[in-house]
Amino acid sequence: MEHTASVNPWVALAYLVSGVCFILALRGLSSPATSRRGNRLGMIGMGLAVVTTLVTHLPVQTVGLVLADPSGAIAATGPLFARIDMLTLLEILGAIALGAVIGLTTARRIAMTAMPQLVAAFHSLVGLAAVLVACAAFLNPVAFGIAELVVPMIGQPFAAIYPVSRIEMTLGAAIGAITFSGSVIAFLKLNGSMSGKPILLPGRHVLNLAVLGAILALIAGFYETQAPWMFWAITLLAFLVGFLLIIPIGGADMPVVVSMLNSYSGWAAAAMGFTLGNSAMIITGALVGSSGAILSYIMCRAMNRSFLSVIAGGFGAESGGASGGEAIDRPWKRGSAEDAAFLMSQAEQVIIVPGYGMAVAQAQHAVREMADKLKAHGVRVKYAIHPVAGRMPGHMNVLLAEANVPYDEVFELEDINAEFAQSDVAFVIGANDVTNPSAKTDKSSPIYGMPVLDVEKAKTVLFVKRSMGGVGYAGVDNPVFYMDNTMMLLADAKKMTEEIVKALD
Ligand code: NDP
Repeated sequence: MEHTASVNPWVALAYLVSGVCFILALRGLSSPATSRRGNRLGMIGMGLAVVTTLVTHLPVQTVGLVLADPSGAIAATGPLFARIDMLTLLEILGAIALGAVIGLTTARRIAMTAMPQLVAAFHSLVGLAAVLVACAAFLNPVAFGIAELVVPMIGQPFAAIYPVSRIEMTLGAAIGAITFSGSVIAFLKLNGSMSGKPILLPGRHVLNLAVLGAILALIAGFYETQAPWMFWAITLLAFLVGFLLIIPIGGADMPVVVSMLNSYSGWAAAAMGFTLGNSAMIITGALVGSSGAILSYIMCRAMNRSFLSVIAGGFGAESGGASGGEAIDRPWKRGSAEDAAFLMSQAEQVIIVPGYGMAVAQAQHAVREMADKLKAHGVRVKYAIHPVAGRMPGHMNVLLAEANVPYDEVFELEDINAEFAQSDVAFVIGANDVTNPSAKTDKSSPIYGMPVLDVEKAKTVLFVKRSMGGVGYAGVDNPVFYMDNTMMLLADAKKMTEEIVKALD
């Protein structure tokens, strides 16, 4: 099989248009009000890029008329011409259809609470695809147009890979392999199939640096010699690095890991775009890589972690990770739905703080209904969103948008935190770590340093969760449960909110 060249200006234009669609998609996704349009633009851009790539790289076969005499010797040849290799085309279309069916079924079936695992799984596939493309390019570089065939006077002909391609393909394979194994570990941790506790190997920073150093040395060696064993060694060591980088991360620090792996997957795709000479892949990869890096930076700021220590892996792990969830043996107050309804209906302002538990219970529609009832009672209602609430970036915004909560009632942490002190009620529903004041005071806490929502400053805190024993993602108890102004509403978030709605009637 060979490929037709793709220097056609129409192809460049189509890739440019898809690149513009991706940029507009990212812009649209920056606000819940425009995110649906952004999503659609992204789909159009990707559709255009895939169709353009397929049309310009149609598999062709060169055929011609060959006449042979009865002895088998060639007697005459006709003109050669190219025709579409239908079998390969069917294989490609079959693979696309299979991928589309798997993607559609997974997206339809997946529960909102399992989204983070799904995202991690998708990142692992991008990483694996980059590794496989690099391997294919390494095994048959002439077909990829990244080598020339050298026929020496003595010995076998061999493919001399262009020096720049040696760097691109090894970098692509390395970043792809790190993304793959790192994402698999992130998937297992987020899915609960592996403990969320940090696994700290002795001298892990030295080990990580040594393995990374070995990979860089091997890339330099491969650039000089094109020795096959070096390519395979780089790939294997990179798989190991991905594993080593993610196992020490635990507790509440997974959000940064998810966005960091998102960024890595983009860079892996961009590196492969260079190997394949595909500008759409370079643009898309660079967009994903840089937007993922910006998101990681934002998440680091939200968690008050240093960006460098995230990249080095295992940050914040020394403080204990998701370990100590010892409940504090102190008195606490329990309330009912009727108590909550009464308190909130008398309030001037109520701030609702949603968290992971609201997502688990799918309580967002009931919460919206409760807010509508409160507004009918003349209460001002606002929503406070912590950047790492839930289990993926933007998790709460998505759920509230799904329940048609007006966007102008939804506020980010820095815009609303000062308002808790002037509010009558903070209604915390399924949020725990993001409201834990020990992040401000307790140096031994795994979430120490993370900015939190100051719910305890409201006149009354209503805390919805299922039991006093249940802890949040970071596995630590929350002192707010035991404060004088706190009333615990112990029940499933949806059930409790529906009861409050009834009581408000
Ligand atoms: P938490 O995980 O801290 O707390 C969830 C709370 O919900 C628990 O108190 C739990 O208590 C309660 N809960 C669970 N199910 C229900 C239910 N059906 N009804 C009522 N309550 C329920 O959530 P937060 O949103 O406060 O914090 C997010 C945490 O996840 C942070 O530590 C963050 O770092 C981490 N994280 C965030 C990611 C992101 O990108 N946003 C990604 C990965 C991790 P109980 O069991 O008693 O009901």
